[in-house]
Amino acid sequence: MASQDRMAIPVGDLFRGWGRVLTGYCPSISIEITRECPLHCPGCYAYTPERFHSRGSMQSMPEYRGQALIDGVLALVREHRPLHVSIVGGEPLMRMRELDVMLPRLTEAGVAVRVVTSAVREIPACWSRLDGLSFAVSVDGLEADHNARRAPATYDTVLHNIQGHSVILHCVVTGQMARRPGYFDEFLAFWSERPEVLRVWFSLYTPQIGEHTPEVLSPKERAGVLEALAALRPRFPKVELPDAVIAGYLEPPASPRECVFARWVPAFAADLVTRITPCQLGGDPDCLQCGCMPAAGLKSLGDYRLLGLLPVRSVARASTALGETTRRWRRDGTRDRGVSEV
Ligand code: SF4
Ligand code: SF4
Repeated sequence: MASQDRMAIPVGDLFRGWGRVLTGYCPSISIEITRECPLHCPGCYAYTPERFHSRGSMQSMPEYRGQALIDGVLALVREHRPLHVSIVGGEPLMRMRELDVMLPRLTEAGVAVRVVTSAVREIPACWSRLDGLSFAVSVDGLEADHNARRAPATYDTVLHNIQGHSVILHCVVTGQMARRPGYFDEFLAFWSERPEVLRVWFSLYTPQIGEHTPEVLSPKERAGVLEALAALRPRFPKVELPDAVIAGYLEPPASPRECVFARWVPAFAADLVTRITPCQLGGDPDCLQCGCMPAAGLKSLGDYRLLGLLPVRSVARASTALGETTRRWRRDGTRDRGVSEV
């Protein structure tokens, strides 16, 4: 699961969760349930030591299995009471047996769950019956590019493993894709026809500060990609790329402090304790080149002025502060009930 694919969180759900923020909880959390991944994508950032700052690399982090993992994830959800949980990795399907227990527990408790995966393993048919469970499947562009990067999770494997499910197809646009004319037309012609694909999402590659790799898009390439994707929307209605998200991509948050998404969606590493900061990407991401879909959507909404006066971003910041105070009071006083059904 590409380190940038984990940003697959619905913006609408985050705003619906505003009340959660006011009471000191989070609308959404992201949990890396394992550090294991059978793929070896070139340039994978997930395993670099910088990602966790001075706290060591992902490989050096303890992780849980079996009942300990199930209990740990459910305890995190009870503590933070999110409306939405993203289950990410590594590759989350490496913990199939644990997911088989925890997914019904979470969805039955009313928590919306999204498993973000490379679909390197077959998604069990019985999971399609769980209300509130969805899948974001990562695809790295056209077949030749994807297969070269993601084997053994090739196009054929993905198509086989998502059979019987409705998934969101998520592609992180890189500079290499942006430089090839007609790339997204071809990509969408293939995936839009698949009955298993419910929607198609596009994020843009977000570099670390000072990164100069072929994946990074220049400002001109970035604008060109967004124009091309916007123009493709009428022909490929499965593309979900609202104008608000495009506006956010064109003018991302200036820093993590300005990023409502980073504040509202804590990401936990495989030890189920370490918070990945400043956002799910970790390290020192270049916010001015951010291509994270929910961050872009919330940035646009954040710039919107409530009653024509206060930017939503300021209200969100004040809400977070108020929520943190509420949380402190709660900790100091009586313990209130969490999502105890989980
Ligand atoms: S799928 Fe695995 S190897 Fe590839 S980018 Fe994601 S975590 Fe890294
Ligand atoms: S704006 Fe910065 S902090 Fe927010 S998601 Fe993008 S890279 Fe992360």
